[in-house]
Amino acid sequence: MLNDNCLFCKIIQGKIPSSKVYEDEYMLVFKDIEPKAKVHLLAVPKTHFALLSDMDGEGAKMLAHIFKKIPEVAAANGCEKGYRLVINQGEDAGQTVHHLHVHILGGQTLDW
Ligand code: AMP
Repeated sequence: MLNDNCLFCKIIQGKIPSSKVYEDEYMLVFKDIEPKAKVHLLAVPKTHFALLSDMDGEGAKMLAHIFKKIPEVAAANGCEKGYRLVINQGEDAGQTVHHLHVHILGGQTLDW
């Protein structure tokens, strides 16, 4: 279920443009608008929830699918030598978009 007030739900619905690199029935992957690494992608489930603690069975199924697909999508987009995944959860982590998303960072050697 998508949420009309959510930025990433609007991107999923095509109401706001994005640079898509992969899409299927469960997920969308697009380029982060303010990249923090040479390659910075966002993988989002096609259902709305902000936090892992809000996730239902449908969300869990989509997230499992996302993790299964990420190696292939990352390798096809300049992360053949490795990448880092980040999921910000809540205020202390600096989460700014309240639709669960996996940051995929790579294309360069990353400092810790
Ligand atoms: P977070 O801080 O973990 O919630 O990450 C949100 C990310 O969404 C940030 O890295 C932003 O640069 C990115 N972002 C915000 N708006 C857009 C947009 N319209 N298209 C692509 N990425 C976006």
